[in-house]
Amino acid sequence: MIIKREREIDFTNKKLVALTFDDGPNLTITPLILDKLETHGAIATFFLNGKYINDKTKEIMERQLKLGCELANHSWNHLDMKTLNKDEIKREVQKTNEIIYDKVGIEPAFFRPPYISVNDEMYDVIELPFINGINCNDWEPNFTAKERTEIILKKIKDGDIVLLHDFEGNDNTVNALDDIIEGLVEEEYNFVTVSQLFKYKNIDPNIKKKLWSNVNIIK
Ligand SMILES: [Zn+2]
Repeated sequence: MIIKREREIDFTNKKLVALTFDDGPNLTITPLILDKLETHGAIATFFLNGKYINDKTKEIMERQLKLGCELANHSWNHLDMKTLNKDEIKREVQKTNEIIYDKVGIEPAFFRPPYISVNDEMYDVIELPFINGINCNDWEPNFTAKERTEIILKKIKDGDIVLLHDFEGNDNTVNALDDIIEGLVEEEYNFVTVSQLFKYKNIDPNIKKKLWSNVNIIK
């Protein structure tokens, strides 16, 4: 099922940031993240693990799309893919693309490697652009919501991708999100999906062996 999005604003020459969340979808933290995004009229890109996608979490994915969020690929099993052979790497990505398409009719356009662990085999086999991001250690339980917020607001610059997590139990990121979003709005950032970020910055993401954190920096 494809849900029609509202007409897009033109973000050319604006300050842009792409919030992203990894390791969902789930029925506990993902809906709370979506509540926060909806309250602030913000959007994000969710990098999904295929193993969590089922008829229950499908409803979460439909809500993500309805809010204008993007769905992307974070592998099936969340393994360190450097330990896999080429066939296994391919299967991790293909199976996840297939189940996302099967549930909501979307073909993911981006891949984020689990643990940001990459090697040449992965770049050879996986055809999607690889996405990293600036982070605030939000997978570490002892980083408070306040610390997470401060790190992001300190690091942020135009064209950044922000790497966060909506895995189960990650309440500190839910609790940080109001302040992160409000802080970014105060700095006149606009929230876009990863696809929109490349589109409005007029950058082609299809560069081999490139792990993107900011679309303005091309090396
Ligand atoms: Zn992950």
